[in-house]
Amino acid sequence: MKITVLCPEPSSFSKKGLEYLEGFSSLTLKTMSQSEFEKTAPKFDAVLVRFNTKIGSNILEGGSNIKAIISPTTGLDHINMQSAKLNNVKVFHLHGKKRFLKGVSGTAELSIGLMLSVMRKIPQSFSAVKSGVWDAGLFRGNEVSGKILGVIGCGRLGSKVSKTAIALGMNVVAYDPYISRFPAGVKSKKSQLKLLNEADIISLHVPLSKETKHLISDREISQMKSGVVIINTSRGAIINTESLINGLNSGRVSAAALDVIEDEHLMKGILHPLVKYARKHSNLLITPHIGGATFESVEKTDLFILERYYKQLIM
Ligand code: NAD
Repeated sequence: MKITVLCPEPSSFSKKGLEYLEGFSSLTLKTMSQSEFEKTAPKFDAVLVRFNTKIGSNILEGGSNIKAIISPTTGLDHINMQSAKLNNVKVFHLHGKKRFLKGVSGTAELSIGLMLSVMRKIPQSFSAVKSGVWDAGLFRGNEVSGKILGVIGCGRLGSKVSKTAIALGMNVVAYDPYISRFPAGVKSKKSQLKLLNEADIISLHVPLSKETKHLISDREISQMKSGVVIINTSRGAIINTESLINGLNSGRVSAAALDVIEDEHLMKGILHPLVKYARKHSNLLITPHIGGATFESVEKTDLFILERYYKQLIM
């Protein structure tokens, strides 16, 4: 018997991944809002999601049919893991699949891309060109070579970003209290404060947890060098939205580039305060959580999870 699988965000998956699933399941592909998903999902045996869909206890308990959640992501903060465990729902994910993840580079590359975009004012200068302005003097930027990059969280992505930054001539300092080995050439800092005091550019690569929610708030921004640049491709809630807007407004933070924003799952139809800010100011660049959204990463991660683990579910 084929099990029923709901995928509420088909555009987040690869053609090959969806074809694989269709071979074993009755697959429903439909882009839906969070509230529509919450009403519909409990009727299915399994759900296939990435981070655009929140899976709370409300869809896993009380007569829900869901037996499995398939999420080819490393971050799992969109899933209530405790409720999944309590309700015997299997979660197929990528967290901890270290050897496989070594070959997945999309988000690290984006962090570097965002840093260079901000430092060289690439988006602003292209907008000007499109409106007929050709004036290099308006877009004088800064080089990254010789600058100090502060990497907070030096796991898979923090390490990749550090190595690339070193290749670009940057001096890299990192803070990660849970590891003892850092990539060659990276100076580890004993405290986050030391990193915040020293770095010209700060790049965040920590998982979202109770400990890291609002890791960057008013106090931390006040501890940074004046004119610091902040890059965040980790999770939006690592940075306190209001603190960042205040930091950008005051100039303490000269610019920021974010691939993730707090409560981004509520973005549809709502103008987020950071987007509102970015509409009026040129020192904030936002991309819509595209870190892992490369053809290479999406296909590799879909197939890794499905080919290795999906059969456990249907057997
Ligand atoms: P990882 O587990 O390999 O590395 C995270 C590191 O953070 C670990 O070394 C850990 O020790 C460290 N850490 C934890 N708490 C810390 C703290 N308070 N201070 C300093 N360091 C701390 O994870 P990863 O695969 O490198 O992912 C990093 C982040 O990127 C996660 O938030 C993940 O969700 C996010 N991510 C985003 C995208 C995207 O599309 N933008 C894609 C993949 C991953």
